Amino acid sequence: MANLLWLQGGACSGNTMSFLNAESPSACDLVTDFGINILWHPSLGMELGDGLQELLNDLVSGRKKLDIFVFEGTVINAPDGTGTWNRFAGKPMKEWVQKLAAVAHYVVAIGDCATWGGIPAMAPNPTESQGLQFLKKANGGFLGSSYRSGSGLPVINIPGCPAHPDWVTQILVAVAEGRAGDITLDELQRPKTFFQSFTQIGCTRNMFYAYKTSATQFGQRRGCLFFDLGCRGPMTHSPCNRILWNNQTSKTRAGMPCIGCTEPEFPFYDLAPGTVFKTSTFLGVPKDLPTGVEQMGYVKLGQAAKANAPAWTEEDIFV
Ligand code: SF4
Ligand code: SF4
Repeated sequence: MANLLWLQGGACSGNTMSFLNAESPSACDLVTDFGINILWHPSLGMELGDGLQELLNDLVSGRKKLDIFVFEGTVINAPDGTGTWNRFAGKPMKEWVQKLAAVAHYVVAIGDCATWGGIPAMAPNPTESQGLQFLKKANGGFLGSSYRSGSGLPVINIPGCPAHPDWVTQILVAVAEGRAGDITLDELQRPKTFFQSFTQIGCTRNMFYAYKTSATQFGQRRGCLFFDLGCRGPMTHSPCNRILWNNQTSKTRAGMPCIGCTEPEFPFYDLAPGTVFKTSTFLGVPKDLPTGVEQMGYVKLGQAAKANAPAWTEEDIFV
């Protein structure tokens, strides 16, 4: 039996909503099939007031073991580093996070806010928000770059706005079953099994990307969303087109550009006007090119692809 505690800092609860919709495995499967004992969760926990404080104190003192500490949302430090804008169970949430991270065997950050700070940490960051071990791309965050949980691992980051529920439950199962050694992390502490490949892999629009045929409207079935609508699928690390959402689809399959929500720079350009759902170009070349592609190579490849595009790329073939 692995004891799991889930707390929430500066968050919209989107990752909780996502988690509760997990299918492979589901949140119920974690309990019934995989031996995870959910001690408390903001939407599922039964204890309140003194009962909850007693539980937290038991964990901090070691009277009860904390195998997995899950955190959703940012660590709020405002005002002036006190953290009192986010009080929980009798003290600033940041104090609980510090104490619980010190005794947890594994710490898992769920969603962009807990991993990198996400939208709340956008300038001017009035809540003085931090991710658990990163602030945007900078390693450190609230716990500091040298932090290691009892298992010897740093915080396991599962980003996304929100994270896909099955990324969350599959990692929790691996950790609870003692297979954390199989989880290799990238330099941003994301499990490589989910975040080594690009969102573009598995996208149904890849042929249109190859022939440089553009979609110009949301939901348009023909065309690729990269050239005009700002799709970040070729430079975003996620399995959104391999592990589908609701087992059905993905943003790009549905005709909505990927906005790169699993990367620490999200929201890109701090949502400045004209930077969202729009491909910024200079002399006709996108400013943000697919990862690993050089400007000159992109231009040459693009010209050849456009000149040789078959007629069907301009038709609606999805009848
Ligand atoms: S829509 Fe986005 S993810 Fe799909 S092929 Fe085009 S650029 Fe790649
Ligand atoms: S498609 Fe892109 S923006 Fe959408 S969930 Fe996946 S990584 Fe995030």
